[in-house]
Amino acid sequence: MAFKINKKDSILILTVNLKEEPFFYLIEALGEVFSPKSLDIELKRYDLELSFSYNPERKQFHAGTLIDKLKKIYPLREGLILAILDVDLYTESLNFIFGEARLQERIALISITRLRQEFYGLAKDDKIFYQRVLKEAVHELGHLFGLSHCANPKCVMHFSNSLLDTDIKDYKFCPLCKKNLF
Ligand SMILES: [Zn+2]
Ligand SMILES: [Zn+2]
Repeated sequence: MAFKINKKDSILILTVNLKEEPFFYLIEALGEVFSPKSLDIELKRYDLELSFSYNPERKQFHAGTLIDKLKKIYPLREGLILAILDVDLYTESLNFIFGEARLQERIALISITRLRQEFYGLAKDDKIFYQRVLKEAVHELGHLFGLSHCANPKCVMHFSNSLLDTDIKDYKFCPLCKKNLF
């Protein structure tokens, strides 16, 4: 059961330890995705030592531990938090994850590490990269608003098993998901 988007809802995008990447385009793009609701969307840079969540055997960072930490840093926030990190994330049951959302605590994470073409030995492509970041961001925010995965492969709430799924889908909600949100 999705929550209807509330007038009061705001989104804080935290770019964690990212110095170079310009993610300000997300403010406008997310504004478009969630229109006609006008959510208050803010972007902040945040530096955080991440070693506490590192698993040396897997050479990956544990998403749940990171969410716990962010919840402690921003315990009383009313709106949603979307953290963007450039480390490879995992959860117990999966080899890796593109992102994770914790509905009750209204915090989600996405990792940009596996969204770059270079990760797969391909030539750098900023356009594809920024589209993927947007899709993953909208997807996890959709979960924070209570949406589940959608069967429509074009819908942003479709589950991405691989980047192929991400590239096929749109960055927007399908009419059905939109109806649940608005
Ligand atoms: Zn999902
Ligand atoms: Zn959908």
